[in-house]
Amino acid sequence: MKKYDVIVIGGGHAGAEAASAAARAGAQTLLITKGLDKIGEMSCNPSIGGVAKGIIVREIDALGGVIGLAIDQAGTHFKVLNASKGEAVHGPRAQADRMLYKKALQKILSNIANLELLDAEVTTINTEAKKIKSINIANGEEITTENLVLTTGTFLNGIIHIGEQQISAGRKGEAPALKLAESIKKLGFRMGRMKTGTPPRIDGKTIDYSELEVQKADNPPLPFSFMHDEIKVPQLDCHITYTNEKTHEIIRDNLDKSAIFSGQITSKGPRYCPSIEDKIVRFADKDKHQVFLEKEGLDDDTIYPNGLSTSLPEDVQEAYIHSLKGLENCKITQYGYAIEYDYVDPRELKLSLETKQISGLFLAGQINGTTGYEEAAGQGIIAGLNAALAAQKKEPLILKRSEAYIGVLIDDLIRVGTNEPYRMFTSRAEYRLRLRADNADQRLTPKAIDLNIVPRETEIKFTAKITDLRKLLNILAELNLTPNEAAKYGFKLNKDGKRRSAFELLKYPDISYEKLAEIWPELKKFPEKLAKQAVIEAKYADYIKLQEKDISLLEKDEEIKIPIDFAYGQIANLSSEVKEKLNEIKPENLGQAARISGVTPAALMAILIKLKKNS
Ligand code: FAD
Repeated sequence: MKKYDVIVIGGGHAGAEAASAAARAGAQTLLITKGLDKIGEMSCNPSIGGVAKGIIVREIDALGGVIGLAIDQAGTHFKVLNASKGEAVHGPRAQADRMLYKKALQKILSNIANLELLDAEVTTINTEAKKIKSINIANGEEITTENLVLTTGTFLNGIIHIGEQQISAGRKGEAPALKLAESIKKLGFRMGRMKTGTPPRIDGKTIDYSELEVQKADNPPLPFSFMHDEIKVPQLDCHITYTNEKTHEIIRDNLDKSAIFSGQITSKGPRYCPSIEDKIVRFADKDKHQVFLEKEGLDDDTIYPNGLSTSLPEDVQEAYIHSLKGLENCKITQYGYAIEYDYVDPRELKLSLETKQISGLFLAGQINGTTGYEEAAGQGIIAGLNAALAAQKKEPLILKRSEAYIGVLIDDLIRVGTNEPYRMFTSRAEYRLRLRADNADQRLTPKAIDLNIVPRETEIKFTAKITDLRKLLNILAELNLTPNEAAKYGFKLNKDGKRRSAFELLKYPDISYEKLAEIWPELKKFPEKLAKQAVIEAKYADYIKLQEKDISLLEKDEEIKIPIDFAYGQIANLSSEVKEKLNEIKPENLGQAARISGVTPAALMAILIKLKKNS
């Protein structure tokens, strides 16, 4: 019987990261997925990144992951969202050529040492004494492992809805994973149903673009990967159209035929990525909704109308789509649909993404109740890495809320669970000024170097950048001016007689690096990218200093570990409601316990006293 240190089931966005991370950590890894040609399939929108999501992509890249490398080879319309706002909310995003993305990802995976790929359907998970033992594939073969990462996306008991039509499927044209779903149910996890949807696709040759708004890609495009200096893929324009009163009328008149509104689908969909029928009901006062017409590939005329996800019947989709400007005569090439699927309550997981009940079983991606490629990939890299570390009997990597959006995502999921598809937003991160796209490497690459999961070139490039950045920051700290000297250069400072360093001067909105470089020409020798980084560091320095106090308090609490079998029942002065919550969530440290709603400072003190007594 074959045996692997780690087996990953599913070659979606979570599975690709999990398999790559496990193998990079030195574990003999097998990735099993249905259809190797489907690895990296974008089930819905042909794009990666966006607000908060783009930061997750950069964090994954900083840890040596694959999503950033792949999108840089496939992105056809790079744009930093929120570019006019502060760097903390910048959202790098790129529309992708679907085929190029899959090709790039498949090539990257096929070149990773210790990683084997197997085209098969996994039907059964076998456990022994609450530990992972092996899996079976559809031909009955058993493959042994003690560390399994499940990343099956929307495939568990998937049902597609188009109007009243229901089709058993994992994605359009692909069978669902029914046997595996049954096997997972037998493991005894709390599970639920969720739904998500996708818009119809249009033949771009049948669209009249002549009167539509054009959105240009950024020039030059900014790569996602810290390892890339430029993007070589040609950049395409994107067009924008809008729904109108006629569209809304058609949809309103046919609401009873929508699987969501007829009661056929009862599970919750992504609130922040609603179907068009949802938008028209929920935002009844709006007379139009924006629709981005995104090209699915350089040599593919298919258009993804971003904003028109639906579960309405085909004839209604035909009727409403033709009511939009530019789409009057368009041809639909694939109808939109909604899909319902099983998910596992993420409160079943530890911060390492291992399940609390079954040792060696890790879950990542949409199976944990999230939505989005980036959220899936962010969990994938942590689950895969921790599966490998478990195989090597090492401590798991746990990212804190103050260190990464990935840490926020996992902490949110396992602490409060989710009853609707969870999507990342900047507002979910209390330390967002620190968790920026530009500094993801500074936050995380040192950890990846310590864990030996990044190639030598990454280590060299990162170390060189940090050395140069420190050099520049030191110079900026040393150069200084009095307010009177500053006035000679046209800078209006408080006449308090205090000398201000060049670093401090950069905090003033009207003082640029270029102006300082005119005063101190030695600043000119640093590359633009590095100078930009130093300016961002200066702009955020005071805010981050303020936050650091909170962070160190939080980190102190997070260092106080709580055993998984801690007897909350024995603490007399905890209310039964709080005991119930703590027993359900089983927080792994005091910081995590503090974030559970209803857990008061008094309750925390009682837990702390009991922990001290026990030790
Ligand atoms: P997936 O990418 O679904 O990958 C799962 C993988 O597991 C597949 O490769 C599959 O073949 C494999 N697999 C499943 N069962 C087995 C088995 N038994 N044996 C072997 N392999 C197996 N996200 C958004 O952010 N916005 C949206 O608007 C949006 N709309 C969506 C619409 C639809 C119709 C779908 C299907 C998804 C949508 N998503 C959307 C979600 C997004 O596609 C997912 O969040 C993301 O792909 C999840 O990644 P994953 O790795 O968890 O799963």
